[in-house]
Amino acid sequence: MFPKTFQKLIEHFTDLPSVGPKMAERLVLFLFKQDKEKVLDFADSLRELATNLSFCEDCHHIAEEGGKCVICANSNRDRQTICVAEDPLDVISIEKTKAYNGLYYVLGGSLSVMNEGEIEKLNIDKLVRRVKNEDIKEIIIATNPTTDGDTTALYLFRVLRDLDVKITRLGRGMPTGGDIEYADEITISSALEGRKKM
Ligand SMILES: [Zn+2]
Repeated sequence: MFPKTFQKLIEHFTDLPSVGPKMAERLVLFLFKQDKEKVLDFADSLRELATNLSFCEDCHHIAEEGGKCVICANSNRDRQTICVAEDPLDVISIEKTKAYNGLYYVLGGSLSVMNEGEIEKLNIDKLVRRVKNEDIKEIIIATNPTTDGDTTALYLFRVLRDLDVKITRLGRGMPTGGDIEYADEITISSALEGRKKM
């Protein structure tokens, strides 16, 4: 129905979360009608996303290729506290509060109650190694207040509790079932302040 190039791009858009086939067609048509320079710039940014960025070698947050993220590279951060988050957008939300000056560790997802086989997909082993090898005093578990976030927090508690580290979890200011990514800065700040020992 569409020229091949057009159809291929529709398929790429359909792969994106929350984009259905109709929306994908509209987006591709929109791009087609745009100024060529603008479309090429968009294409360049996509290429750079794939080639210039990677996961931080220390914490799995977003970093420039082959290096550390800006947080790990910042020598003014408190290196004895690690806040464990599900994904990079949660890190960004916590950073916006300016209420936290420690390091982070990004799991890259959460464990579902139904499928504990997902454990190896999360970056948990490296976190345990860091707690063993570095002078870490506190781990703040900042998984989402959802069933999966709770399962993940409990799992982390089980693997970390015998190590010499204080384990806390964000206070219950966070709306249950909600997502840190969408919480406002005041809510996150008070959840950080009200964190409880597990
Ligand atoms: Zn990092």
